Amino acid sequence: MIQLYIPLGFLGVLYREIKQSLTDLDKMFVLLEKEREIADEPGAQELTLGGPPTVRFENVRFAYDPEREILHGVSFEIPAGKTVAVVGPSGSGKSTLARLLYRFYDVSNHDDTGPQGSGRISINGQDIREVTQASVRQSIGIVPQDTVLFNDTIEYNILYGRPEAGHEAAVAAAKAAHIHTFIERLPKGYATMVGERGLKLSGGEKQRVAIARTLLKNPPIVIFDEATSALDSANERAIQAELRTAARNKTSLVIAHRLSTVVDAHEILVLVNGEVVERGRHSDLVSRVGGVYAGMWALQQSSSD
Ligand code: ATP
Repeated sequence: MIQLYIPLGFLGVLYREIKQSLTDLDKMFVLLEKEREIADEPGAQELTLGGPPTVRFENVRFAYDPEREILHGVSFEIPAGKTVAVVGPSGSGKSTLARLLYRFYDVSNHDDTGPQGSGRISINGQDIREVTQASVRQSIGIVPQDTVLFNDTIEYNILYGRPEAGHEAAVAAAKAAHIHTFIERLPKGYATMVGERGLKLSGGEKQRVAIARTLLKNPPIVIFDEATSALDSANERAIQAELRTAARNKTSLVIAHRLSTVVDAHEILVLVNGEVVERGRHSDLVSRVGGVYAGMWALQQSSSD
């Protein structure tokens, strides 16, 4: 009912984002006062983390629609402060892993018709279904494929979620995310209006705003969903450097479309049709004759020549 009072254009944008991408979902739920898809257990505790935690997926199965299972028993661990990268063909279930960690969906059966699954996802040994959804989301920063910008100033968009941090903090985050120089050159600098009704930013620029936001939020866990859009090689290197800054001393899950992003990962998972078919470090995987990863690497090397 609440939705009826929100301008339709705005709602359309939100709806699209909620459905398909990893965006600022918590903010969107607040805005829409949408009934959350999943509920906290009665008496659920807060997830409390002193620093970067260990994240573990144990035999996770998941289906959005009971007729079609998307993840068929995925297990991996991201040790505290390390980066695990997931690569694989489009539709293999990479973003679904991120959505589950962010608790957009739970890996449990709620009823026979809705999304369902089994297995366990834990953060420092705490099953994320047993702690509050809000505290899980508070611990995670997301750099989504396509960041939603609010129709407000670029500073508001960087500070979003932590307006009290102030201008100096926004500038520091923008510098670290390598978007400060770009902003300074805008007609009104940090006061420039962006979003649907303001200045449109490119995919790479929006991703930098999201990185700046994440740096400001300073969460112990970071999910980075790399944009699929093609970047020139200078931009690609820059985004990789910013990603490394955002992931420093954090437990990170990186969903990568370009293998050059994952070369340094602690572990790379190759996901095909919802199953991990290869796993290891870049140097191991790339030398596996006839391997899926080695094939993907060869293909990307030849297409970037
Ligand atoms: P890409 O590399 O293209 O981003 P991906 O590996 O991240 O793909 P997912 O977004 O996890 O893939 O999607 C995995 C499968 O789940 C796809 O077949 C997709 O159609 C399906 N899927 C994704 N979201 C939903 C949804 N909300 N409802 C039903 N099916 C969905």
